[in-house]
Amino acid sequence: MVSVSIIGAAGRMGRSLIQAAVDRDDMHVAAALEHDQSPFLGTDAGLLAGGQPLNVPIASDLAGVIAAADVAIDFTRPEPTMAMLDEAVKQGKAAVIGTTGLSDEQKARITDAARSVPVVFAANFSVGVTVSLRLLEMAAKTLGDAYDVEVIEAHHRHKVDAPSGTALKMGEVLADALGRDLKSCAVYGREGHTGERDAKTIGFETIRGGDIVGDHTVLFAGIGERIEITHKASSRMTFASGAVRAAAWVADKPAGLYDMTDVLGL
Ligand code: NAD
Repeated sequence: MVSVSIIGAAGRMGRSLIQAAVDRDDMHVAAALEHDQSPFLGTDAGLLAGGQPLNVPIASDLAGVIAAADVAIDFTRPEPTMAMLDEAVKQGKAAVIGTTGLSDEQKARITDAARSVPVVFAANFSVGVTVSLRLLEMAAKTLGDAYDVEVIEAHHRHKVDAPSGTALKMGEVLADALGRDLKSCAVYGREGHTGERDAKTIGFETIRGGDIVGDHTVLFAGIGERIEITHKASSRMTFASGAVRAAAWVADKPAGLYDMTDVLGL
C-alpha cells in the first residue's frame, strides 16, 4: 500500500487527485495540504473531493503533511511546489509534480532535488499526450523543414500560464527532432506587420475560454497538404489517474528525475 499526500488539495486537480487515489486499491490518501488562508482548512479531504469521508482534514502544516506519506503529489503553483520540494528533499520523500509555468531556474531546482529523491515531473500526465509526444517526434523527423510547425492550445478561463506546459513540452520535442533550439525558434502569438513566416520557427497560439480541460493541436503545414495531430482531454481525471499511477510507480524507485514515458515503460 502506497500512501500519498495531496498538495493543493482543494484545487481543480487536487480534488481529482483525491478521487483518483481513492479509486486505487493499492493507495491511500494520508494527508492533504492547502495554504494557510484557505477556507477549506479542517474540511475532510474525501468530502471535499465529492466522495466518502477519509478522516483526513485539509491541513496547512507542510512538514507534517510531507512526513505523513510515502509520496507527495503536487499540482499547485511554482512557489508552493518549490517549498514542497525542499521539504521532500529534507525528509527523503518521493514527489510527483504536475505544476506548470515553472521558470528555468525552478526546473533546475527539480533536477537538483532529483539527485537525492525520486521525482516524476511531467507537463502532462495523460497517457494520450505521452503517446502524442512520440507521434510528434516521428512526424517532425520525417517531415523536416519543408513543413511549417504550429502548436495551438486551448484551456479554461482560469488557467494562469501560457502557453500551456504541454504546448511547451510539445515544442521541445519538435525542436529536438528538427535540430532546432526552442528558445531561439519559438514565436509566441502574432500581431501587426509580422513579415513572412520564417521557415525555421515554431509558432504557438493560445486560446482561453469557458471550461476547456485541455486541447492541443500540432499543425504541420506543407505545400499542398496539412497534417494535424490533436489531443483533447475531456476530463481532469485523465491527468489525475496518470499522476496517481506515477505515484504508485515511483514509491520504490531510486533517486532520479522521471517522466510519464518512464512510468508507462515507453
Ligand atoms: P487550481 O488553482 O484549481 O489549484 C491549485 C491549488 O493549489 C489551489 O487550491 C490553491 O489554493 C493551492 N495552493 C496555492 N498555494 C498553496 C500552498 N502554498 N500550499 C498548498 N496549496 C496551495 O489549479 P489547477 O487547475 O488544479 O492546476 C494546478 C496546476 O497543475 C497548474 O500549474 C496547472 O497548469 C497544472 N496542471 C498540470 C497538469 C499535468 O498533467 N501536468 C494537468 C492539469 C493541470
